[in-house]
Amino acid sequence: MVEDPEVSLFLEYVRRKMSFEYDEEMGELSVKILKALLERNETVSDESLALILGVGATEIRRALHAMHRMGLVGLIRESPDQYRYEYKWFLNKDFIRKFLIQHINNVTSKLMHRLNTLSTTTLYICPTCFRGYTLDEAYEYDFKCPRDDTELVQVDASSEISFLTNVIKNLRIEK
Ligand SMILES: [Zn+2]
Repeated sequence: MVEDPEVSLFLEYVRRKMSFEYDEEMGELSVKILKALLERNETVSDESLALILGVGATEIRRALHAMHRMGLVGLIRESPDQYRYEYKWFLNKDFIRKFLIQHINNVTSKLMHRLNTLSTTTLYICPTCFRGYTLDEAYEYDFKCPRDDTELVQVDASSEISFLTNVIKNLRIEK
């Protein structure tokens, strides 16, 4: 298959995500399924995918439904005639592109939120248990961690702010 950078990025994301949520075997199977769908470049039923890959249909379905819940694979209902319908799976470059843009937007907004918190509040952290405290909380506990009595230190927000600003800038360029 031609190495498209967006496709490689997406498949690598799926492999990691599915390995993390389930196990490595599920991660590998998910990538195999998606590669088969990309190569076919048409809608395919789960029975056909099982035949193509030589893997049990139950396992294939389990992976497909899990990926569908996370928005990693397309599912449509097709009607061969007006009395019947069947569900089929698909994946194409357009789907991948939309997913990546959506994903980058989510990451960007999380980073923006974090950036906003850092710029508007003074944060303190316990060097022993790494729990974070707002200025109000730090006052309330007399600048000592209530868990382990360690003296709280102020978080150096400026370095994290410039780091996050850079990350966000790079993400925006990729769009
Ligand atoms: Zn502590």
